[in-house]
Amino acid sequence: MILELLKGSIYKQKYSILDIMRDKKIPPPPVLPPSIEIKNIDNFCLFHKGHIKGEIYTCPKCKTKYCLKCAKEARNEGKYCVKCRQLILI
Ligand SMILES: [Zn+2]
Ligand SMILES: [Zn+2]
Repeated sequence: MILELLKGSIYKQKYSILDIMRDKKIPPPPVLPPSIEIKNIDNFCLFHKGHIKGEIYTCPKCKTKYCLKCAKEARNEGKYCVKCRQLILI
């Protein structure tokens, strides 16, 4: 009898938690636009948004690659790594 009551209360508790979860307004995940991400594409320079030509500069922190030329320009202009905001260190 006690066991039955216990089961009942556990069931009720679980049920109410489920109810709360169901009633909770969880916003749907944001719908991402068709993938225009350019991550993991080798030899893509995020500074001039094109393929890297010539020598490559690799960010020491996030390993993102840039043209050496673009990296030098970015450094001169006081810009940072597009991805991780690391200073351009050449
Ligand atoms: Zn970086
Ligand atoms: Zn570039």
